[in-house]
Order: sequence, then C-alpha cells, then structure tokens
Amino acid sequence: MKWANLAGLAVGLPSVPAFGEVGDETKPLAKSQAASQGTTGAATTTPLASPETILLKDYRPQSIYKIPVTEIPKAKFPVIDMHTHPYAKTEPEIEAWVRNMDEVGIEKGMILTMTTGAEFDEIHRKYAKYPERFETWCGFDFTGYDKPGFGASAIKELERCKQAGARGVGEIHDKGQGLRSGKSKAPGMHPDDPRMDAVWDKCGELGMPVSLHVADPIWMYEKMDRHNDGLMNAYQWRLDNQPNIVGLSGMVDIFERTLARHRKTTFIACHFMNLDYDLGRLGEVLDRNPNLYADISARYAETAPIPRFAGQFYEKHADRLVYGTDMGVDKPMYRITFRILESLDEHFYEADQFSYHWSLNGFGLCDGILRQVYHENAARVLAGRRA
Ligand SMILES: [Zn+2]
Repeated sequence: MKWANLAGLAVGLPSVPAFGEVGDETKPLAKSQAASQGTTGAATTTPLASPETILLKDYRPQSIYKIPVTEIPKAKFPVIDMHTHPYAKTEPEIEAWVRNMDEVGIEKGMILTMTTGAEFDEIHRKYAKYPERFETWCGFDFTGYDKPGFGASAIKELERCKQAGARGVGEIHDKGQGLRSGKSKAPGMHPDDPRMDAVWDKCGELGMPVSLHVADPIWMYEKMDRHNDGLMNAYQWRLDNQPNIVGLSGMVDIFERTLARHRKTTFIACHFMNLDYDLGRLGEVLDRNPNLYADISARYAETAPIPRFAGQFYEKHADRLVYGTDMGVDKPMYRITFRILESLDEHFYEADQFSYHWSLNGFGLCDGILRQVYHENAARVLAGRRA
C-alpha cells in the first residue's frame, strides 16, 4: 500500500491515509471537486493532450536537466523518527517495517498513537516487542472536558497510560476548532485554556514530551482559486470554508501562550508548527520558548522549493529541529527525505510521494546539522525524561 503524503494533515485515526493515492490518473474526480471545476463526472478520460486539456492535478513533468542525481539508500547518520503512527497493524507488518528501518538507517520511531484506554494498551502490546526500535506515546481522553472535574479525570488516564508504557503524548491536534486526540474531541477548548493547565503540567511532571499539531498549511485558509500556491492539496483539506475557526496565526499565538505557561513541559510542534511558509516567525517562536522543538515531518515538499532559505533556517535552529516522517513505512518515502536533507540535487520531481506540481531541491545540510536533526536533538528530549 502506498502512503499518501502530508499525513500530518490527517484527522482521526492514523490508519486513514491522508490524501488520495497519488499517480492514479484513472480515478474519477470527487463530486465536489468536479463541480467546482465546472466539469462533469465524466471528466475522467484525457481526450486530447494539450495545455487546454491537461489538468494541473495530472501534470507529471520530467526534468530535462543533465545534472547530478543523488541516490541515498541509507541516511548518513542513525536517525530517530519523532513523528510516526501505528501504520503496521500485525506482527508481520511490524517485522517488515523494522527491516525497512534497518535498511534505511532509522534507529527508532516514536509511535504517536493518539489513543488512551484499551486502544492504547493494544497498540502498545504489539510494539513493545521491539523496545529498542519503537516507543508508544498515548493521547488524551477529553471525556467530560465541558464538565467540572475534567482535569483530574484526564490526568488519571494519563498516569495509567504512563504505567502501561506510554513515554510521551501525541499527536494532539487543534486545527482551530478545539483540541482533539484521535477520536476524543474537545470542541472550543484550545491548548491555552485554563482547563488544560493541570494536564500540561502533569505531562511535564511525568516527563512526557507532548507532540502538538496546531493549524494547517497556509493555503488551506486561502481562496481556492488560480492564485492558490498549494491548490492541489489545499482543496481537499480546505479550511477557508470553516466558520468560526481560529486562524493559523491565532493558533500560533495560542501555542506560544501555552509554552509560556508550562515551561517545565517539553512540546514538539508538528510540521514546523505549520510555519513552513514563514520560517522567520517560527525562528522567533523558538528563540522565545526554550521548551519548544519542531518536527520537520510531512513538510519536505513544502520546504524543498526554497532550499537556500530553508537551509539557513536549519543552520540557525539546528539544535531545535527533530526529524520525523508521518508518511508511512516505505523505503522510497524515507529515501526522499534523506535526498532533500542531504543532497544538493536540483529540480527533481517525486510525484509518487507528493502531489504538488512543483519540483524539489535538496538542502545539502552539513554533517553537524544532520547529526543534530537526525539524532542528537531527539536523543536529548528522550533522555531528559524521568524513567
Ligand atoms: Zn502525524
């Protein structure tokens, strides 16, 4: 099975692929998509190949340039993957995943289960057979979040999960409508809500880092028109039509207030805090908040168009960025992340992994930065915990 890219946008269960399979050119358009494009449901065939008939979503250019192509079968240094999910469901699937990890150089993966209760225990039981290769992180139980006594009940389950083997918390989402942990939801309650104070503090006290996903890429909020830079992905994950949500900038402010209020809790912002389009602002947030790290998962295709600026950002904040994938278990998926981070390749396409129309470029990060992002920063977060 092919894992769709940008899984970081997935709501709900981690087993649900985030995007439609890429490269399936025969697949009919979704009804709403067809309507918006003024086409009918029959628009599945490609009658004439011309700029008038080739849809942007089907555009698959191939680079014309005779320039170096770097193949990186294995990461240059051992890697800790701080953002993955329980994609493998059975023992053979987990075994196959471990073999892939061995081949590409992934030492260990944090399985962000988003779950609590029996569901967490079940996932933990399966992955606990490989204690050197996986950690399982639990979610929150938001039951009763709108009633008195919520903090205490959530903390009780958090402590139970810790006892049962959880080593961190994640992935917790808030895309502007309120907190969510897998299926457990708290509409209208954001991370900086006083009701969450005791819960975040307890995470710090228990030595459990928190993987927190706020907002979504900026083009989800923009008009779905011909000027939208990320239209192919934005349309499916659009937030521009959601009433009464906190916008991206507001969610960053909420995250920052949360960081300031809970200095003893370590937070890992998923996907560059969705500030991959404004890394300057992310740099400022990192500078102001020593208890914050950012994972780089599922934003490779979004940063590869700006390799020089992104490279400078990695250099400046090399001690605060951690590697993550969030894109399944396949070897080609891991390898494209290495190519983007390690090589200086230019203008290459990866339509199997990413569904944007643009080409990618490598950052050519130096060994010191690679070591930090691949391993050292994550190792520091993990070692800083209490047993
Ligand atoms: Zn994720």
